[in-house]
Amino acid sequence: MSEAFDVIVIGGGPAGYPAAIRAGQNGLKVACIDEWRNRDGSHAFGGTCLNAGCIPSKALLESSELLHRAREEFATHGIRLAGIEFDVAQMHKRKSGIVKASTQGILALFKGAKVTPFAGHGRLLPGRKVELTASDGARTVYEARHVVLASGSTPMELRSAPFDGGSIVDSWGALDFETVPRRLGVIGAGVIGLELGSVWRRLGAEVVMLEALEAFLPMADQQVAKEALRAFRKQGLDIRLGAKVTGASVVAGAVSVQYSDAAGAQSLEVDRLVVAIGRRPFTAELLADGTGVTLDERGFITVDAECRTGAENVWAVGDCVRGPMLAHKGKEEGLMVADLIAGRYAEVNYKVIPSVIYTAPEIAWVGQTEEQVKASGRACKVGVFPFLASGRARAMESTLGFAKIVAAQDDDELLGVHIVGPMAGELIAEAVLAMEYSASTEDLQRTIHAHPTLSEALHEAALAADKRAIDFPNR
Ligand code: FAD
Ligand code: AMP
Repeated sequence: MSEAFDVIVIGGGPAGYPAAIRAGQNGLKVACIDEWRNRDGSHAFGGTCLNAGCIPSKALLESSELLHRAREEFATHGIRLAGIEFDVAQMHKRKSGIVKASTQGILALFKGAKVTPFAGHGRLLPGRKVELTASDGARTVYEARHVVLASGSTPMELRSAPFDGGSIVDSWGALDFETVPRRLGVIGAGVIGLELGSVWRRLGAEVVMLEALEAFLPMADQQVAKEALRAFRKQGLDIRLGAKVTGASVVAGAVSVQYSDAAGAQSLEVDRLVVAIGRRPFTAELLADGTGVTLDERGFITVDAECRTGAENVWAVGDCVRGPMLAHKGKEEGLMVADLIAGRYAEVNYKVIPSVIYTAPEIAWVGQTEEQVKASGRACKVGVFPFLASGRARAMESTLGFAKIVAAQDDDELLGVHIVGPMAGELIAEAVLAMEYSASTEDLQRTIHAHPTLSEALHEAALAADKRAIDFPNR
């Protein structure tokens, strides 16, 4: 038996690495084990989010949106650029630089918090022992007072369209296309599918998105979803709803996709196919027999509201447990667990987790949709303010979309805030804070918002909920 730790975290993604840092800040002796391998075989902390998810996708979304604006919008500003060209290799180079800076930063943060990093595979053994298998196969067993499981998730595969690493790829593959496919198919019009479809559409691909459900973005407020669907289709994203993929095969370099919709059996030919039908918890080789940690029927590690598993002093956080698969949700769980271990007070307010889709327009929301509030039977009032009426949005040439507030009729409590439009992902932070503090619409109405800013749309939406908006006619 070798060294003992107060806390060993297995998984160094956005749930695991913050847990390790916070535990270190709390004066505990901590190690974090992570097995991520990049395509070149190198190890990096940061998990899916930093290496193959949130960060590289946002880097490409930014590059492709700039190109789109340069082509479509600059002339309106009186800026004329002749012969705009782009270089996919340079976009990838920039993206990789951002990823590298972020993942290497974690090692510096670990150093500051005195966290011991281990590259390799971690496995929980009974009795809170953790076995580390290094890349050379060497095994070491460590003892821990507490173990935090943060093993994340992995893309779901469609049995009828298996990944082949070239023509049929997962989201990571779709972030690395060396050239722009002429015809791109995307299975799943969820958050990840829409972001990836947007990147390659802006770079010139003909993009067809096949979505099994009839409803578009069913988890979002439907007024927002409707506005977004219209905007995406106008951008040339061919989003086909009620289209269930039943098969895909690669013939002579092209992918033939079979699907069924209301009209019957259909087929589609594309050059590359991205399968973005969701993610599943990843717990392969994580748990030895007899640990007492259990999985639910969908493969998530079973935890209580404070992320305790069934085994004493074994915790689990992030995508490998129930709840939305979001980096910031995992981070808060990681921080909560590290504080609970140190005997501090901590909790996660699962009712106030923001969701953001980084398309253009962006989509962001927190709390309940209008449909959910109505279904709950609670009487509500709704305030909507379009960006068309925002001076700042007009100056930015970004007038699509609106901010919407759903509040209780009886006590004015903010129940949900939904934004589709420019910088929605940034604007939602105000609503998150307001809801965290149980604000009412009156609180938002009485809060001074700088002029001219996009944030005024939230102010006006709050006013509109009481038919007191100033900059747009009240209905
Ligand atoms: P992960 O990030 O998956 O990290 C788990 C880590 O644990 C990995 O490094 C893995 O190798 C390691 N590991 C697993 N098992 C072991 C083991 N036994 N031993 C050692 N190491 C192990 N979320 C957002 O909030 N915003 C976004 O904009 C966003 N964009 C996304 C875009 C894409 C394309 C994708 C795919 C995802 C995106 N997500 C986004 C989701 C986000 O990436 C996840 O919610 C987040 O990464 C979950 O964090 P985690 O720490 O739970 O797991
Ligand atoms: P998300 O869960 O946000 O990542 O979105 C994944 C999307 O993929 C969901 O909207 C699913 O309905 C969709 N999906 C799952 N299976 C299929 C399929 N066979 N064909 C088309 N869409 C699918």
